[in-house]
Amino acid sequence: MNGPSPHLAWSELACHDGTPYPREWRESRALALAAMFEAIRDRVGKPIRILSAYRTPAHNRRVGGARHSQHVEGRALDLHPPQGWTVTRLADVVREIPAVVGLGIYPTFVHVDCRPGRRVVWRGGRVDADKGE
Ligand SMILES: [Zn+2]
Repeated sequence: MNGPSPHLAWSELACHDGTPYPREWRESRALALAAMFEAIRDRVGKPIRILSAYRTPAHNRRVGGARHSQHVEGRALDLHPPQGWTVTRLADVVREIPAVVGLGIYPTFVHVDCRPGRRVVWRGGRVDADKGE
């Protein structure tokens, strides 16, 4: 299979430094990540571009990512609002989806993750999608 779910390819989950999504997580946390993404994709009803997914620890340091970034854990996605949508509209839809545990609202993208534990929501500043939590 070319990805963990119908609308998600492994290439979209790879680190921007070229490192593929880790094999040891492909049957575990990637499936939770994909289920979260498909739930979002389903509610939105159109394609969503993924700006950042898995990051190696080295790449995360290089881009100034948060020290305990969920991207390094393979549990996070930064999503670009679909055509014609604002960040606020996307965040409002995403907020209703129980699989989304971490929700970060940034000026140009929405960060979602499926970390263990309870819901956390934050508003971020003007950072590139490859940075931050
Ligand atoms: Zn993020």
